[in-house]
Amino acid sequence: MKEKGEIYNFCAGPAVLPAEVMEKVKEELRSYGGCGMSVMEISHRSAAFKEILCEAKSRLKELMSIPDDYSILFLQGGASLQFPMVPMNFGKGAYCITGRWAKKAFEAAELQGRGEAFSGSADRNFEYIPKIDPADLPKDAKFLHICDNNTLYGTKFFAPPEMGLPLVSDMSSCILSAPCEVEKYSLIYAGAQKNIGPAGLCVVIIKNSFLESAEDEGLPLMLRYRTYAEHDSLYNTPPTFAVYVANLVFAWLEKKGGLKVMEEINREKAKLLYDCIGNSALYLNKVSPRDRSIMNVPFRLRRRDLEPVFLAEAEKAGLMNLKGHWSIGGIRASIYNAMPIEGVKKLVNFMQQFEGENL
Ligand SMILES: *Cc1c(COP(=O)(O)O)cnc(C)c1O
Repeated sequence: MKEKGEIYNFCAGPAVLPAEVMEKVKEELRSYGGCGMSVMEISHRSAAFKEILCEAKSRLKELMSIPDDYSILFLQGGASLQFPMVPMNFGKGAYCITGRWAKKAFEAAELQGRGEAFSGSADRNFEYIPKIDPADLPKDAKFLHICDNNTLYGTKFFAPPEMGLPLVSDMSSCILSAPCEVEKYSLIYAGAQKNIGPAGLCVVIIKNSFLESAEDEGLPLMLRYRTYAEHDSLYNTPPTFAVYVANLVFAWLEKKGGLKVMEEINREKAKLLYDCIGNSALYLNKVSPRDRSIMNVPFRLRRRDLEPVFLAEAEKAGLMNLKGHWSIGGIRASIYNAMPIEGVKKLVNFMQQFEGENL
C-alpha cells in the first residue's frame, strides 16, 4: 500500500490536490465545523453551505482579481458541457483549433450549425500557438473561442488574442496557474479536476453584459447561464462537496501568497523540466519555446521502444501517471499548482539517471 507523500502524481486530470487540503478534508469529513454531519450530508440551502459557496466566490474573485461586472457560476457537466452550451446561448462562434479540446468545442458548435474553424495549428501537429489574423474571422461570429492551455500538446496562449470580438476561453488546465487578465475575456470556463478540486464542478466566470446578451429563449432552464446567475448557482443542487474542496484550495492558494507567487513557482518547475529535456540526447519536446505550457509538459523519447520501460521504471520510483494522452502516446508530466517542486526535482533526477543507464 502506498501512502500520500511516498509518491508524486503527475496525472493530467483528475489531478493531485494539495496535501494540506486533503488533511483538512479528512479532519472535517464526518463533522463539518463540529456540526456532527458531513458537508456531503447537509442541505445546499443550509446556512453552512451558503457560507461555503459565498466564501468560494469571494476568494476566487480576490485571487483572480475578477472585476465587479462579472458573475461567478458553479455548474456541473464538466468543461465538455460548456462546449455546446456556449453556442446555444450566444450563437455562432469562431473557433481557433489548437488541439483536441479546442476541436471538441468546435465540433459541439458545428453540430448546431454555430461553429466556424479558422487558423489553427494542426499543420504542425499542434506544436505552436497560431497568430490569429482578424481577416480570417467569420464576419457573423458572435464570439471567438480559444483553448487557453492545450492539455495534450503542452501549448499555452500567453496573451489573450484581442480581436474586437467577445473572447470565450477554456481554461480547464491553466486556471489559477498565474495571474489572468479576466477583463479581456467575456466568458472563462474550467472543469475543476485539474487545478481547482474534485471532478463534478465546472467554474464559469462571465461578464454580465455578455450574459445579458444571451439569446436563450426556448432553451431548457438548466442550459441557460441566466438560470445559474439568477439563482446564485442554487437553482438545483450544485456539487456541494466539490465546491467545499474548491473553497479549501482557494484558501490554500491565498495562504501560499496568491497567483503571482504560484506563477513563479510554476515557471520554476516547468523550467527544470524543459531544461532537462533540452539538455538531453534522449528526450524531445517540439513545442516552440515561447508557447510552452507551464502546466502540462509532454515529451517523447527519441527511442520510442524505451517509452514503456521509462513509464514502468518511473512508477517503481514513485513517479505516477506519466503516460501521455491515449490518442497521442508519449510521456506527459502534468505539474499543476498542487505538484510540489520536490516532485519535479525527483522526476528530473529520474530522467537523468534513466538517460545515463539507457543511452
Ligand atoms: C480536461 C479538459 C477538458 C474536459 O473536461 P471535462 O470536465 O472532462 O469535460 C476540456 N478542456 C480542457 C482544456 C481540458 O484540459
